[in-house]
Amino acid sequence: MHELYIAESILASTRESLPAEFLPESVRQIWVQVGRLDAVVPETLIFMFDAIKSSHGMPGAELSLESIEVLCRCGECGNEFEIDLPMFICPECGGGQVEVLRGRGIKLTRINAEEPEG
Ligand SMILES: [Zn+2]
Repeated sequence: MHELYIAESILASTRESLPAEFLPESVRQIWVQVGRLDAVVPETLIFMFDAIKSSHGMPGAELSLESIEVLCRCGECGNEFEIDLPMFICPECGGGQVEVLRGRGIKLTRINAEEPEG
């Protein structure tokens, strides 16, 4: 259950990144970038997130996902290109020495929480 694990890490990172004066209950929205290479199903991730957010103390939090295209660079000719599938072949020269520049990993980009009272 890939998405459950990701939902748990998002909630854990949110808690860690939250300034001390904010309670986890005050979190309203969490923005996350998801690389295409992680093959996350957005609907499943949001479903899992909603299912466990209360147990992480953030019942009011909503998850917003942004899908990040996979950007690669060919080690042979230096061409940079985006891919839809994990097929690492340079479309320019056919080289197979391809480095992934972007599109891997889950990244927390923004948290919206209610201002603490007082
Ligand atoms: Zn190339």
